[in-house]
Amino acid sequence: MRYSDFPYVIAGAGITGCTLARCIAEETGKRVLIVDRRNHIGGNCHSRLDPQTGIEVHSYGTHVFHTGEKRVWDFLNRFCEFNSYRHKVVTLYKGRTYHMPVNLQTINSFFGISLKPHEVDEFIRLKSSRENITDPQNLEEKAVSLIGRELYEAFVKGYTLKQWGRDPRELPAEIITRLPFRHGYECDYFTCRYQGLPWNGYADLFEKMLDHELIEVTLETDFFDIRKEIPEESTVFYTGPVDRFFDYRHGELSWRSLRFEYEVKDVSDYQGTAVMNYADIDIPFTRMHEYQHLHPERGNKSGKTVIAREYPEAWQQGDEPYYPVNTAQDRQRLELYRQETSKLENIHFAGRLGCYRYYDMDKAVLAALELCNAVFQGHDNCK
Ligand code: UDP
Repeated sequence: MRYSDFPYVIAGAGITGCTLARCIAEETGKRVLIVDRRNHIGGNCHSRLDPQTGIEVHSYGTHVFHTGEKRVWDFLNRFCEFNSYRHKVVTLYKGRTYHMPVNLQTINSFFGISLKPHEVDEFIRLKSSRENITDPQNLEEKAVSLIGRELYEAFVKGYTLKQWGRDPRELPAEIITRLPFRHGYECDYFTCRYQGLPWNGYADLFEKMLDHELIEVTLETDFFDIRKEIPEESTVFYTGPVDRFFDYRHGELSWRSLRFEYEVKDVSDYQGTAVMNYADIDIPFTRMHEYQHLHPERGNKSGKTVIAREYPEAWQQGDEPYYPVNTAQDRQRLELYRQETSKLENIHFAGRLGCYRYYDMDKAVLAALELCNAVFQGHDNCK
């Protein structure tokens, strides 16, 4: 490999790296090298076909694409069509199932009542006013102020403790605002205008994105092993963990990791939905995925189904980072890393790992498109 042939090098072939590669190739008309230490492109959005059943399995947990950004939707639709899947999540608590996010069915079933939508606010207000929370400072206070203590204890507390390995009082309030709270029976997990799964799968989407004469892909290659060979005048887009780039000189940023336990079940449908959440603290996994439901248009001729239990795990160097924990100490360290990144010429940091941000897929694509525009117009927001 002659690294001097590539004026642009991208570290990481996840959704951010693939978007950047395509944009840079089209924008500059120059050669782009994208390297990844894994043996596949697509990062944590990667999917593969299960050999026994032919069902498309998401290797790093269910990824449902959803966005309100037409620009992002139009960009991705150049490389794939999306199916019409609408994500609906069921949560299991003490042996009973409820809609998630919390909606009127959740409230009415949980309390054994039959409230009407216009009565919900007053019902919750009476519950949360006992708590005296005027300015919620953490995840627990925010959740209790939104849904009251009983629903919080049932559907949020145990799940969040398992998911983050921390007391919800130590977590930022914003995490829970990812979940809407519904006064009616609508049960779509997302309300964005554009939603779905790539018709031919995520692997096909990323292959098409990188299928460009100016883009070269090198897998099973750690960026840090080739870094010295990249000419100084090349521009690097780094989408790996920002603290690793600086050899953890200001300390580690904390992450939460996940482990998936796969099983083929000898039934055609095991749980009737793509994702079931497990709210009870004494069940060690948070979710069960059943991938065939993401593509109802494909049917399931195998008579079997693939499920995966999702176990959140502590993260240490060498594990896969999934979620930025974002404690007060993390924010202090991130600030120090940002001071370092802003001093570097020719290196841009991007993506969930590079920016230490809890990006959804669409926000990662949008940030990559904006970064590309900004770099070629001379201003990088991520620095
Ligand atoms: N959450 C919860 N109960 C649930 C689902 C989510 O308490 O049944 C909380 C939990 O703290 C989680 C956050 O809401 O980290 C955001 O959930 P989301 O589904 O957006 O997480 P992701 O899909 O990114 O894993």
